[in-house]
Amino acid sequence: MTLLSIRDLRTYFYTEDGVVRAINGIDLDLEEGETLGIIGETGCGKTMLGLSILRLLSENTKVEGQVLYRGTDLIRLSKAQMRKIRGKEISMIFQNSLSSLNPVLTVGTQLAEPVEMHRHMKKQAAKQRVIEMLKAVKIPSPSDRAVEYPHEFSGGMRQRAMIAMGLACTPSLIIADEPTTGLDVTIQAQIIELLKEVLEQSGASMLLITHNLGVASELCNSIAVMYAGEIIEYAGVIDLFKNPGHPYTRGFFDSLPNRGLKPMPGTCPSMINLPAGCKFHPRCPHASSRCEKEKPDMLKVEEKHHVRCFLYD
Ligand code: SF4
Repeated sequence: MTLLSIRDLRTYFYTEDGVVRAINGIDLDLEEGETLGIIGETGCGKTMLGLSILRLLSENTKVEGQVLYRGTDLIRLSKAQMRKIRGKEISMIFQNSLSSLNPVLTVGTQLAEPVEMHRHMKKQAAKQRVIEMLKAVKIPSPSDRAVEYPHEFSGGMRQRAMIAMGLACTPSLIIADEPTTGLDVTIQAQIIELLKEVLEQSGASMLLITHNLGVASELCNSIAVMYAGEIIEYAGVIDLFKNPGHPYTRGFFDSLPNRGLKPMPGTCPSMINLPAGCKFHPRCPHASSRCEKEKPDMLKVEEKHHVRCFLYD
């Protein structure tokens, strides 16, 4: 069953330099129990997608389109209705645990807050729930750790606490934004294992935002590749890694250390001055005059594999 359906999502924000077109017509579906990876270079709009779904955006931002969560359009909910969804139905695990946790509150107090609010638990019961959650994310001596402050935790421990916070109200959807960034390889592997375990146990779906293909391949069933605020390729994880179809996806993979370290020419376009036609045409080795004028549609190249490129027309 489809848990989340995104239709023609567009997110703009207004700056002194012009309108930043961060999301440019995204369509996506996420099934119950599925983990969908959103990959792409820094600045391609991945994080804005997560923030747009949860409407965690500043006042100068405009969001259009539909974000249907179990059939309810989140874009059209009031702020109060949205607060009830956040944390309880959909939670977000942010990338920088140090800046995401409040330095002047103990970890336990911060974890207890959403539990008290969404599950209407009394202080003592919430405290017990916090200890259970810290235990579930394998934090040793959870009762002692709950009364410590974020700076007393190591980076890996803090990330575990963030995951515990994301899971505290047993959400159906978790949006994890670069959950392993900044952690060393060993801790990264432990966090991946932990996420696998908690997803299996909870049955929750996850939208994993990452530029780390190793993390995506470990955790995801399907992957959507983003470029300049659009999805340009979508496929099952094995299919995508074996047969990347879009010239950008191929270039992105080739630039990785384990795939030849071949740098891709050019840089991501400015989201204020996006190129006409195919947004990748200034960097594409296969660009034709058509690519400069027309925007390609998503084309089916195989069952569950779609590519936005005229090469498949
Ligand atoms: Fe390259 Fe044209 Fe395909 Fe865009 S549509 S990726 S420019 S070949």
